[in-house]
Amino acid sequence: MRLLIMGPPGAGKGTQAEIITKKLGIPHISTGDMFRKAIKDGTAMGKKAKAYIDAGQLVPDDVTVGIVKERLSEADCAEGFLLDGFPRTVPQAEALDDILNELGVKLDKVISLEVPQEIILHRLTGRRICKGCGSSYHISNNPPKVAGKCDKCGGELMQRTDDTEETVASRLRVYEQQTAPLINFYESHHIICHIKGDQPIEQVLQRIGNCLGRDLA
Ligand code: ADP
Ligand code: ADP
Ligand code: ZN
Repeated sequence: MRLLIMGPPGAGKGTQAEIITKKLGIPHISTGDMFRKAIKDGTAMGKKAKAYIDAGQLVPDDVTVGIVKERLSEADCAEGFLLDGFPRTVPQAEALDDILNELGVKLDKVISLEVPQEIILHRLTGRRICKGCGSSYHISNNPPKVAGKCDKCGGELMQRTDDTEETVASRLRVYEQQTAPLINFYESHHIICHIKGDQPIEQVLQRIGNCLGRDLA
């Protein structure tokens, strides 16, 4: 399946994407994770991206589209993939259409996770991610089995540098202005599932499964 998951920061995209891709055996392509890896590796692209990310701004479209195009051309994407956090602007969505046309494939579904703003701040300030594998936890909603340690790889958990109250406010504005219009873009393609994201992780997963016609439990 070729899937895309979208929603505001903290909607639960990464959490759901991790479970769905494991279950369906397709790669999880998160532009946020790709940028964080580039920053950790100290690449030139990472250095450029970090300034935008820490300011709560979007990384420029040309950089972002370039890395996605490269990634989607890799062999493991031939049978399907899940894009998480891309596209985030209308020009990115148009570029994605072009990339998919070139590859001769189409998106099967777009999952739109919908969560009210008042819940988002609590989710993002309580979010912790694994230094090793990037898995996302929440100090109260989705805690690891051992405090401060990743269930999957034992790595140390940390707070993202962009999950501060100040940066979150900017990210939410950017979402409303630049990313929310994509819901209409995909609405006109008739492939969007609207999923209520402010319910327990398992229930959100089940609703996504219903929309995809797959048992994800
Ligand atoms: P969240 O999980 O909070 O939605 P991500 O991990 O997806 O955040 O992204 C973190 C940051 O990386 C974004 O705030 C933005 O600066 C940058 N980023 C990620 N994806 C994109 C994209 N498609 N276009 C531009 N910038 C992006
Ligand atoms: P996104 O990738 O959309 O930014 P994440 O998947 O990282 O969002 O989730 C943001 C935070 O909210 C994390 O701390 C995560 O553990 C928590 N979370 C995810 N889904 C839910 C849910 N359904 N209910 C409560 N908390 C959730
Ligand atoms: Zn880990």
